[in-house]
Amino acid sequence: DKDEEFLVVRDLYAGYGDAKVLHGVSLTVARGEVCAILGPNGAGKTTLLRALCGMVKGRGVIRLDGADLVGRSPDTVARLGVAHVPEGRGTFMPLTVEENLRLGAFTRRDRKAVEEDLERVYGYFPVLKQRLKQAAGSLSGGEQQMVALGRALMLRPRVLLLDEPSLGLAPLVTRELFGIVQAINEQERTTVVVVEQNAHLALGIARHAHVLETGRIVLSGTAADIRADEQVAQSYLGYR
Ligand code: ATP
Repeated sequence: DKDEEFLVVRDLYAGYGDAKVLHGVSLTVARGEVCAILGPNGAGKTTLLRALCGMVKGRGVIRLDGADLVGRSPDTVARLGVAHVPEGRGTFMPLTVEENLRLGAFTRRDRKAVEEDLERVYGYFPVLKQRLKQAAGSLSGGEQQMVALGRALMLRPRVLLLDEPSLGLAPLVTRELFGIVQAINEQERTTVVVVEQNAHLALGIARHAHVLETGRIVLSGTAADIRADEQVAQSYLGYR
C-alpha cells in the first residue's frame, strides 16, 4: 500500500563520471520508519544518500510518496521534503547556531511556524538554546551534529537522510544523539534513512536494514533478521 511504499528506490545506478558506484540498488522504506544502511567503507552508502537528495545524478527510480525524484536538483528534492545531514555535518562554522538553524528553513515562507520550529528544535537540543549566538565552529563535535540535525528539522522534512551521525563522537554522545533521532522519528513521524558504521546503534533504532557491498544490496531484512545473520554478525557487529 501507499504507506509501505513511501520511499521507493529501484534499479538505481549512480557514480561520479567514470567511477560507477551504485549498480542497481533497490529498496523500499515505509512511511514513518527508521531504515538503516550498513556496509563496509567504500560500499557506496554515502553515494546512495547523495543520489536520494539529488546531489549525485542517478539513473533508475527514486520515488517519494508517488513523486519522481530522479534527475531533480537538490533544491527541488529539499522542497519535496528530503533533508540531508551529510557526513562531516555540513555545518557553517563561522555562522552562529541560530543562523545555521534558520538556514534549514530556506524553503519556507511561514515565518511564525519557523519561529515555533526553532523552539521545537531547542526542545530536542536544549544545549543549543544556551549557545544560540555562538559560532557553530566553537561547539563540540556532538553539539555540531545537533546543529546539523536541528537544521535538517527546520525543513519540516518528510524524510531525514543521516550520513554517519556517530562519526568522530564519543560513545556516550552518540547514544544520546541516536536517542534524539528515535524521539524525532516517534514524535514527528519523520521517516529516517541512516547510514552508520556502528551497526549496533543503527539496528537499535531501525525497523529494517539493508547491507550494501560494492554498490549492491546484498542483504535486506528486519533489524532482527540482520542482527541474526552470521555474516553480518562477523563483519559489522564484532561477534559471531
Ligand atoms: P565510507 O563509509 O568510507 O564513506 P561509503 O560506503 O559511504 O564509504 P562512498 O563514500 O559512497 O562509500 O564511496 C563509494 C565509492 O565512490 C568509493 O570508491 C569512493 O572513492 C568513490 N567516490 C566517493 N565520492 C567521490 C567523488 N566525489 N568523486 C569520485 N569518486 C568518489
